[in-house]
Amino acid sequence: MPMPPYQVYCYTKGCKHPALYKIAAKWSDGVVSELKTYGLCCEECLPKWFLRGREQRKGCRLIPNETLEVPGIYVLKHGQRDQTLVRRVDLEERIGTTMDTEASA
Ligand SMILES: [Zn+2]
Repeated sequence: MPMPPYQVYCYTKGCKHPALYKIAAKWSDGVVSELKTYGLCCEECLPKWFLRGREQRKGCRLIPNETLEVPGIYVLKHGQRDQTLVRRVDLEERIGTTMDTEASA
């Protein structure tokens, strides 16, 4: 699904920032594959949505032949198809590291 041409806003309730990132995971049932979207968010809300996506992924049960990758951070671009979105692994690692530090503190 191509992105709608209008401005997309952060999914956080009360947040008025435009969405810059998409939290999504590659899903496949062995025949078709697509990006399963967990949320769209701004820079500020990114850690919250990213961690929420990872939490939801943990509780997700898969049927045989079904695969679902761990949710990642994708840069949202207007008019770009899911398959061409750029993944920001560096941001994922930074947020993941922050999370570990907080957990052990
Ligand atoms: Zn936000």
